[in-house]
Amino acid sequence: MEPIRNILRHKKRAVRFYEAEATKIDYEKKIVYAKDDSDIKGDTMETEVPFDMLVVGVGAENATFGIPGVREHACFLKEVGDAQRIRKQIMDCVETATFKDQSQDEIKRLLHMVVVGGGPTGVEFAGELQDFFQEDLLKWIPQIKDDFHVTLVEALPNVLPMFSKQLIDYTESSFKEEHIEIRTKTMVKHVTDKYIEAEISKPDGTKAIEKIPYGLLVWATGNALRPVVKDLMSQIPAQKNARRGLEVNEYLVVNGTENVWAVGDCAVANYAPTAQVAAQEGAFLARLFNTMSKTDAIETELRELSAKQGTAKPEDRTVILNEITERQRQLRRVKQIGPFQYSHQGSLAYIGAEKAVADVSWFSGNFASGGTMTYLFWKSAYLSMCFSTRNRVLVCFDWVKAKFFGRDVSRE
Ligand SMILES: Cc1cc2nc3c(=O)[nH]c(=O)nc-3n(C[C@H](O)[C@H](O)[C@H](O)COP(=O)(O)OP(=O)(O)OC[C@H]3O[C@@H](n4cnc5c(N)ncnc54)[C@H](O)[C@@H]3O)c2cc1C
Repeated sequence: MEPIRNILRHKKRAVRFYEAEATKIDYEKKIVYAKDDSDIKGDTMETEVPFDMLVVGVGAENATFGIPGVREHACFLKEVGDAQRIRKQIMDCVETATFKDQSQDEIKRLLHMVVVGGGPTGVEFAGELQDFFQEDLLKWIPQIKDDFHVTLVEALPNVLPMFSKQLIDYTESSFKEEHIEIRTKTMVKHVTDKYIEAEISKPDGTKAIEKIPYGLLVWATGNALRPVVKDLMSQIPAQKNARRGLEVNEYLVVNGTENVWAVGDCAVANYAPTAQVAAQEGAFLARLFNTMSKTDAIETELRELSAKQGTAKPEDRTVILNEITERQRQLRRVKQIGPFQYSHQGSLAYIGAEKAVADVSWFSGNFASGGTMTYLFWKSAYLSMCFSTRNRVLVCFDWVKAKFFGRDVSRE
């Protein structure tokens, strides 16, 4: 995580930061209602933040598709708290499975780790979990060797749909070697605290319902709207038919508004909901706002120069006129900002056992690769995209620490 305050302290401009939850945006009144979510309660817990211009970048929440039991029993994979919960649950499952006199069926259930969603997030998590088992858990608790089992469940016919066929095959064969089971064409219909019920499409085209017992269930199937975004959409008539998020134009202005922009996972600009898109949209808006602020400054200067010209002595008029011409040229240059254009740099995913797959844009073509070298490339890409040097160093230290001393498995 990159603390926002760490970024703000390097900014020359005055930026006010409130760590709070935006509970509602009133579009007509131009007010954001904010609530302090901290455990320590002060005098004020709720407040109003008026705005002239608003950027919405609240991301998305996990999509459960209304499947009963998912919210209650599955672990998600979005916020840091989710990761901590997963770590605690893995260790709970392992310790309970090794508790004295546990039945064999119960041991098998507790040590069955099911990941639902075969996109990059689910694939990376399944790979990392198997690594954790092979590199750490097995050393301390060798008796779970034959029972610990990772299964990746996907409703579509294959995992990683955004990658080329060759890399999908490579991932599937790598998972087989690592003993991670992939169950495609398997659609989860219902979740209880001990098993999932899934509809399986058989090779002959028939369907069957199967109960799959689990100890840990990780849900990584995509994005849904946050309530604050859903509420904002309901206030803007032009967003009536929008389903997946705030629909924006090519300048990222929310359709039907003039003073609201949306970026990242909460915006629908016909790009995949990835950090790559979100980061480029953020940089574009920064350029756009800088341009708007420069335009304002130049227009003010132009107005002042015009007023001065009216009262100036004849010998000074030519100088002022030259200045006006120069400012007008500057204004034309500044106003030349084109619409947002996404530049796709490629897709990368870690698949476990120090291997990764990459589909990277290379000049005008594509470069597909998989294996250990791609894993090193993945790591370097990961590091280069850390926002600050501080985080880059901390991540490096973390990797070295895990390599030499194993992963941290404390429950809390
Ligand atoms: C496990 C995982 C792995 C991923 N790996 C990759 C990857 O390798 N490459 C890639 O390109 N993308 C990846 N993604 C997708 C990527 O993380 C998202 O597309 C990206 O973070 C979207 O950025 P965002 O700023 O729109 O939203 P977020 O990063 O989700 O940020 C939204 C922020 O808004 C805050 N917020 C939410 N609601 C409110 C509210 N009401 N009031 C105030 N604050 C609020 C949240 O706490 C959060 O800090 C991954 C996603 C996951 C879950």
